[in-house]
Amino acid sequence: MVVYAAPGQPDALVSFQSRYEHYIGGAWVPPVQGRYFENVTPVTGKPFCEIARGTAEDIEAALDAAHAAAPAWGRTSPAERAVILNRIADRIEENLEAIAVAETWDNGKAVRETLNADIPLAVDHFRYFAGAIRAQEGGISQIDEDLVAYHFHEPLGVVGQIIPWNFPILMATWKLAPALAAGNAVVLKPAEQTPASILFLFELIGDLLPPGVVNIVNGFGAEAGKPLASNPRIRKIAFTGETTTGRLIMQYASENIIPVTLELGGKSPNIFFEDVRARDDAYWDKAQEGFAMFALNQGEVCTCPSRALIQESIADDFLAAAVDRTERITRGNPLDTDTMMGAQASNDQFEKIKSYLDIGRQEGAQVLTGGEVADLGGEYADGFYIQPTIFRGDNSMRVFQEEIFGPVVAATTFRDFDDAIGIANDTLYGLGAGVWSRDGNTAYRAGRAIQAGRVWVNNYHAYPAHAAFGGYKSSGIGRENHLMMLDHYQQTKNLLVSY
Ligand code: NAD
Repeated sequence: MVVYAAPGQPDALVSFQSRYEHYIGGAWVPPVQGRYFENVTPVTGKPFCEIARGTAEDIEAALDAAHAAAPAWGRTSPAERAVILNRIADRIEENLEAIAVAETWDNGKAVRETLNADIPLAVDHFRYFAGAIRAQEGGISQIDEDLVAYHFHEPLGVVGQIIPWNFPILMATWKLAPALAAGNAVVLKPAEQTPASILFLFELIGDLLPPGVVNIVNGFGAEAGKPLASNPRIRKIAFTGETTTGRLIMQYASENIIPVTLELGGKSPNIFFEDVRARDDAYWDKAQEGFAMFALNQGEVCTCPSRALIQESIADDFLAAAVDRTERITRGNPLDTDTMMGAQASNDQFEKIKSYLDIGRQEGAQVLTGGEVADLGGEYADGFYIQPTIFRGDNSMRVFQEEIFGPVVAATTFRDFDDAIGIANDTLYGLGAGVWSRDGNTAYRAGRAIQAGRVWVNNYHAYPAHAAFGGYKSSGIGRENHLMMLDHYQQTKNLLVSY
């Protein structure tokens, strides 16, 4: 067990600045209007730094820097860009513990996750796209004796990226790594709730990129996000966030006829077929672990398995074991590596989850465990902690249909295969899903029938860089990760040449 010292304490690995500016053109630049906002750590509920509050003027300055940098960056070879991306990965890896602590302090998530998942995955994503861009080939084809087609990949130019607060560094990486690999310059807006860890990251890695290739403008959605997403000087907008905001982003993009990538909300079903009981104990335990994934990252995951569908014949036994498993999720100081569940990322999110705990009860869902705020006392008394909660009810309830984005799972039962698929697909969303069955036929047919971009079979919550990720229905448009991501950040040029 390791308990990391809180930033600012003696022996702390991380010392945040008391004030962060925007990062524009390779320099720290104060906001044009001179305004700042407080950044709070969810661990204690106390402010720990102030952040430049961006407006349209700051976005224009960042776009000036990006446009100045884009042509030269776009002309670098894939090999040169790969070297830089690999250096970024190495630098993050060298500072992994410090970055993990910074992420935990800014977001509230348990440091065991930032150490073992978020930051190592960020390293791997930079390395993956460093390799991917070198492996990408254009093509030449002979059309006829006097006509040859050349197929080129060109960067789009300057792109905008807007991210949420649940995986600040990983979401930034998912967007930056392919965009940079493809030769674009970027203006990125972090979420207003969690900008500090990304700014801390750029203190560490900023010197590895030519000035202006990545620019970060902080601030709120309406003040800084909208002027970026609606700006005619960007050639693409990539967005991760709520479905309602995604609709607005598409409207802005339509004015400028630019492509969007939208990674939006989810209400992912996790389906347990009755053969999970017929298996050995190890498989039953594995399925229980899969169920408990609803509380990973405090449930603040777009693909959180927030609906559990359990076959009737095993439901009571399964849920009794699930309650036991859930009550063994350790909660406490997020900087303690023994803590499995930390704090919700913001007071707003904390209040939203609490309201859904009330909604669930009011609409008659049974609380199997949890259902309350978790009072950790002492210095954490004002932090944003919630008990992991299992509701039992039916799929028409709001707690089954609306994204809570907290450690809350809504469990229900199904009769047979068709019933399971019917319930699973009875949602606006289509991002993730889980299927638990060792019957290959059942697992395969369920995996194909569920309307979701990512289906985990006999596992949950793996995010390798080379597996395409994205949503069906209201969960979004486009994919992230995988080689295909390069296409989202490139123009294709076809040159038809006669000699
Ligand atoms: P949000 O939509 O409120 O905010 C996301 C970002 O958009 C923030 O940076 C915000 O400042 C900005 N924004 C808000 N209004 C804007 C506007 N009008 N114009 C431009 N930018 C604007 O979402 P959130 O509450 O921060 O994030 C949680 C949501 O993100 C959940 O719905 C979750 O499912 C989703 N999410 C999806 C994925 C995925 O990959 N599909 C991953 C993580 C989170």
